[in-house]
Parts: sequence; structure tokens; C-alpha cells
Amino acid sequence: MKNWLKSSSLTKFALSIAIFGTAMSFIPSISVANLPLETTTLPLPEINDTNTDTSLKAKANPDNQWHEHTIKIKKNDSLSTALDRVNVSATTTYNISRLKNSNLITNLRVGDKLTVWVDKDAKLQKILYPKTKTLTYELVKTDSGYKIHEKKSAIEIRTETAYGTINGAFYLAAKRAGLSAKSIMQLADMFAWDIDFIRELRKGDTFKVIYETRYLNGEYLGDGDILAAQITTNKGKEKHNAFILRDKKGIIGFYNEKGKNLKKAFLRNPVDYVRITSKFTPKRFHPILKKWRSHRGVDYGGPLNTPIHVTGNGKIIQRGKARGYGNYIKVQHAGKYMTVYGHLNKFGKYKKGQFVKQGDVIGYMGKTGLATGVHLHYEFRVNNKHVDPLKIKFPAAGPVPKKYRTEFKQKSHFLLTQLDRIDSKTHFARNFE
Ligand SMILES: [Zn+2]
Repeated sequence: MKNWLKSSSLTKFALSIAIFGTAMSFIPSISVANLPLETTTLPLPEINDTNTDTSLKAKANPDNQWHEHTIKIKKNDSLSTALDRVNVSATTTYNISRLKNSNLITNLRVGDKLTVWVDKDAKLQKILYPKTKTLTYELVKTDSGYKIHEKKSAIEIRTETAYGTINGAFYLAAKRAGLSAKSIMQLADMFAWDIDFIRELRKGDTFKVIYETRYLNGEYLGDGDILAAQITTNKGKEKHNAFILRDKKGIIGFYNEKGKNLKKAFLRNPVDYVRITSKFTPKRFHPILKKWRSHRGVDYGGPLNTPIHVTGNGKIIQRGKARGYGNYIKVQHAGKYMTVYGHLNKFGKYKKGQFVKQGDVIGYMGKTGLATGVHLHYEFRVNNKHVDPLKIKFPAAGPVPKKYRTEFKQKSHFLLTQLDRIDSKTHFARNFE
């Protein structure tokens, strides 16, 4: 049994831990918030940004003579009662209400905040009404009366990189490298077929990631898509690459440098250890992995009620109880494949006869039947013969679609050269524990 997840030295040594750098210039910087606002030119697919008007600042306020008020909308408030509190005349409010698009600014909700500017003669000059983080309605006084228009704030997409060394649970290493939980899960999901996160990742394995982050008015909103990633295993001998392919509608898939789809017909493991280890420290939890040979199945240890994912699309042909298996589920997949899941504590929502999709939660880990401790017993059968699922090669999903091939080739080649430039020297330790 491999016990890399047990590593107790995990928190003591943070060796080559990654840090953000601005993407293509690779200037290391200390925190995301301090990154220079440089524009990086990357030949990447467009993200649907909003328009270019980034300024939500007040317009000319001659000699600072306007009075600025912040009005919080209370229960039963209307625009007129709100403006009344800053002595704007009823006539003005009436004139606003007669504007064609007045609803943009009169449709208020409790808790909304209006910023209102009145001049020294108590005449309303301007209102800013932030509707969402990226959308603000503005009312301004012009020579031809009041006008309302919308101001959209562009979300700025930055490209950043991360580099890390595995020294225990992948989740923790990726976290130290500065990746958000969302990015870590995306990373685990895209490599789920290609890399066995339980058995294959070892101490010293490294990962590199090029990913997007989203900012609004300089404020970090969250991580965007992962554009490219590389995980190096087997003492540096094996490099697993993933490159994004997306169009205006979103991500089409992740492919390797040859354009082969990273997705396969079956997941490597029915238990998602990357997610589990995000909640459990390696000291408290490590999977029990019994070898296939001993009992024609693979055992996965874990906390009670760990979700169990069906490894491929198929139909539940049995859901019941047996002496040995305890609560178990049998799934028939396309053609000759079948999977079996035993010792479940309880079943998921899918019943016998129902179709399930790869990744659906069909049950929860338990110790029903002949089980000494909480674990999942997982079997993989081909033509009803037991096969070691850890050794079998699953067929891949389709490669990069023809119409994207040229584009993908160029972009993935570019990203690969960028991945090659990321190493421990371009990233310095973010925190030492
Ligand atoms: Zn077993």
C-alpha cells in the first residue's frame, strides 16, 4: 500500500512552493492584489467581457460645490421619499418619473444605496445607483433635462501562473501554490482520467498551471478558467499536459498536446479523494487501498458517507442488499462493461432501471455486509469477468474537433512554451509553515 497521503512532514516542509507571477512576463510579485495592471497579450479565445466604460466615478463637480449624499433604501421607500430626505423637490422627482426609462432608477429594493449629488441651490445634479457589481444606473442633469443611462464595468481578465510540489495531499499543495478551491477542483477534474490522484501522485511530483483571474475595478473577483496545466509524475519522467479549448459558449474540453481528449468513458476512481482531502488533513485521513488481486475488486477507505460516483454512463440494473456486499449497486455500461459498488451506507437518488451519468452520486460509503471498516468495494467487469480497473486502458472521448484543429495547435503550442518557462525559480515561496 502506498501511503503518500500519510505524509506527516507535510506541514513542516514547504519546499518549492509556488507563488503568482504575472503571466507572460514572469515577474514574481507578492500578492495578487499588488499585481501591476499590465495588459497581457495572449492569443486566447475571447471571454465575453462587457463594454469598455470602466469609470464609475462622478462627473465634473465644479469646485467641489455639490453635496454628496448616500441614501439607503428602507422598507416602503420610493425614489421620491428617498430624495425627499435630501430635500430634492417633488417637481424634480416627478420629472424623473416621467422619463421613458425611469423604471431603471425607480425600481428600488430595500438595502440599495444611492449616491446623490445636489448643488448649492439644492438642485439634483446626479444619482448613481449600483444595481449589480458590474452594472450601475446613472442619472445626470443635462441642458435638455434629466437623462438616465447604464454604465457597465468591464471585468478584467488577468492571466496568472502557479507552480507547486506535491508533498502530501494534492489539494493542500495546490492551495499553497495559491490556487483557489475552484481551480483545484477544475484541475483535478480535467486530469481525473489521465492521472490517478490516489496512487500515482508522489512526493516531489510537480504541477504548473496557467489560469485566469477576474478583476473588477482592481478588486479580485475569483479565478476563471484554467488555460493550461502540466503535472509531472514518475520522478520527472512523465509529463501530463492539458490545454483548454473553448468557444464563446464556454469550455469545449481539455486536450493534450496531441489534441487527444483527456476525457474517457470511465473515471479512474469512484471516490473523489481530491475533494475529500480538501476537508480532512492528511493526518486524520488516508485511503485504505486493498489490492485488486486479493479479492477481485478495489477497496477505497474514507469517512462514513463519502459520496460514491458512478464511473461511467450507464443504467442501474441492481440496487439491493446481499450478505457479502451489503447495500450494493450494479451498473451496466455500454457494451461489455459493468461496475459494482458495495458496502454502501445508503443509496443516492437513482433507482433500479434509471440511467446515470459519469460522476453522478449513486450512494455513500459505509460498512454494510461483510466489511470490517467503512470502505467502498468497487468491481469492474468486462463481459462479466472481473478486471483490474486500475490497469485497464479506457477508450478516450473524441479528439479536438476538426474545425478547431489549427487554432488549437497554435494556442496549445504557445501555452506549452509558457508552461516550460514556469519553474521554481520564477515562483518564490508564498508562505512557509
Ligand atoms: Zn473489497
